[in-house]
Amino acid sequence: MKYKAPRGTRDIYGDEVAYWHLIEKVSLELFQSYQYEELRTPIFEQTGLFCSGIGDQTDIVSKEMYTFEDKGGRSITLRPEGTAPVVRAAIENRLVGNGKVTKLFYRGPMFRYERPQAGRYRQFHQTGVELLGSISPLLDAEIILVGTKLFSKLGLDGLTVHLNSVGCPVCRPVIREQLKSFIQANLDNLCSDCQTRFDKNPLRILDCKNDKCQKYFLGLPSSTKVLCQDCKDHFNFLIEYLEAANIEYTIDSKLVRGLDYYTKTVFEIRSNVLGAQNAICGGGRYDNLFKQLGGSSISAVGFAFGMERTVIAMQEQGIKAEEEHTPDVYIVTLGHPAKIRGFVLLDFLREKGLEGKLSEEDRSLNAQMKSASKANAKAALILGEDELEKGVAIIKDLKKREQVEVELTGDKIYESLLEIKRKGAN
Ligand code: AMP
Repeated sequence: MKYKAPRGTRDIYGDEVAYWHLIEKVSLELFQSYQYEELRTPIFEQTGLFCSGIGDQTDIVSKEMYTFEDKGGRSITLRPEGTAPVVRAAIENRLVGNGKVTKLFYRGPMFRYERPQAGRYRQFHQTGVELLGSISPLLDAEIILVGTKLFSKLGLDGLTVHLNSVGCPVCRPVIREQLKSFIQANLDNLCSDCQTRFDKNPLRILDCKNDKCQKYFLGLPSSTKVLCQDCKDHFNFLIEYLEAANIEYTIDSKLVRGLDYYTKTVFEIRSNVLGAQNAICGGGRYDNLFKQLGGSSISAVGFAFGMERTVIAMQEQGIKAEEEHTPDVYIVTLGHPAKIRGFVLLDFLREKGLEGKLSEEDRSLNAQMKSASKANAKAALILGEDELEKGVAIIKDLKKREQVEVELTGDKIYESLLEIKRKGAN
């Protein structure tokens, strides 16, 4: 019986791994320069966390969660997103409060039972940042700035920031009514999910993935016009900060994001090379989620970006991520005693920081020398019975094609190899 990775999941290997390392490295450096600290939460949580946090009417909760009962009869869900777990962890571990802003980032796999297609998977990876503890629109601006900076550091262009406000409990009912009266005339033409959402949670209609429905949303009046004064001020200050930081944006009244916890700011960063799944990063403000999940009243804002889509966008734009692992030395051994000596020597050299290889099989000198060239090794170290007897090793600079005899001690060999490495780097 041959097995395949489950539908919607994939293996990451070979050249692609260099992209993941690069994104991880660049994002870590960026987040640390903004004083974000890492938080690692479990991959599964109690199901209720996501139902209360994300909202029962969202696609994520109503259709896409990997939920199961564990052997103790508890309902468990593989996390479909990172914000609700971060808030749960912040409340549980008292990471917030005392008027300070807590800055966190996380990364890891997320799980959603979606219809797989290019750029959309059932297991995918997100990296996200969360700023917990302030209502200031300056933080919304910082989050958007960090997102745009990250992608520009990775060399991506063709990105646009889409921005909207979904209001707060005071003005949300007005936004809802405005949307309902706009949709009403075409309600019969919308899919059955949208018809259910019309009464239960009309904003979710705008997330509908059905192309047939999307065409009825064209010309939707802007929600930012009917915001309460507080949300309007927040939005205007945010725009001022973004303009001061030279961040271009488009106000997009259709943007509501597929999670119920958002208040005020929502945004998405889209790439023009990603086709249908063009959202590379999404986020917004969530001022009520802490309370909803049993905490005190803490305002927060954050985003998550998709690792897979970032890799695809980089590859589409021809951005290279290469990791060179050319060995500093290839150890060629002839005979069993030499192989034992070579094995120990290589470990010593690796401890000292050199990269090396050793032929595992018993092969001829010629065959091993060919492998050394093929591996692009800087030097070959040859160790046979004669050398062992004389207490030496032959070190050959494979670029200059010069060879020397070196006393068979770890330190002497290390010095000689380091010299070749240094010369090669100059
Ligand atoms: P969301 O949590 O839905 O706001 O998504 C944030 C980001 O995660 C998106 O902009 C995508 O880059 C990525 N993402 C979300 N869902 C998927 C998926 N099913 N497959 C791949 N990436 C995804």
